[in-house]
Amino acid sequence: MTTPGRLSVDSEGKVRGNVAINYNDPWPCVNGRLGVTGTMSGVLEHTMVANLPSCIASFNNPSRQASAHFGIAQDGTVHQFGPLGRGWEAWHAMAANATWYGIELADDGNPNNPLTDAQIAASAQVVECLSAFAGFPLQVTDSVTGHGYGTHSMGGAAWGGHTCPDLPPKHVRSAQRPAIIDLAKLIRASTRTPLPSGRCHADGHTSLAGLAQRQGCGVPDIWWSTAAGMAAADNTGFGDLQRPYMAAGQWDALMPSGMILWLP
Ligand SMILES: [Zn+2]
Repeated sequence: MTTPGRLSVDSEGKVRGNVAINYNDPWPCVNGRLGVTGTMSGVLEHTMVANLPSCIASFNNPSRQASAHFGIAQDGTVHQFGPLGRGWEAWHAMAANATWYGIELADDGNPNNPLTDAQIAASAQVVECLSAFAGFPLQVTDSVTGHGYGTHSMGGAAWGGHTCPDLPPKHVRSAQRPAIIDLAKLIRASTRTPLPSGRCHADGHTSLAGLAQRQGCGVPDIWWSTAAGMAAADNTGFGDLQRPYMAAGQWDALMPSGMILWLP
């Protein structure tokens, strides 16, 4: 499977990019409210116990008082119910509504059905987009005080007391979150733009192998241009940060913060 494309949020709060996505009509969905501000902790996985058309019908019925930010059909089609970053709250998990995004996933009526490959791919795109947009980490969390991709059920009674997004003892669908997060990380890594060539400083969170991947070159290319750059700049050769890193020869180890490199 090729890595799905990275999504972004436009000025109306709609998610755009290389994914099949529809926007709720009316926009936003009636079940929700505007005027909510604050930091988002992450996103919650839900299951529809249905398919996408009946979920859309239900969320557009004012008497239901229920909604989510996104629904995802078994074929991977995404439906967005309301805007991101516009103070719109979806009604998906009671006390969690103001601080967690919600994604409803079609299960064809049975929460023991696993997510399809298409749902995993679309989920990875949406979760990566939400994480980048709201600044929460790409990780699984099972704690209401955590950050990342959680579940409706982890909130207990305060979040509605649901078993959602699956059923014990199997918990098939919540156990698929690590696969979604892994794919989301691949999406992010594969679409990062290269840094400009020339002198730069390691940030303490990047390996040389990771940097070479981002630059689309080989590790030796970075060493050659660093040697040339240092010679041209001050003719002192490799310094106290480069020498031990180079001697260790472990290119997937994090480079020390402040280590100077010249990128080709
Ligand atoms: Zn739920």
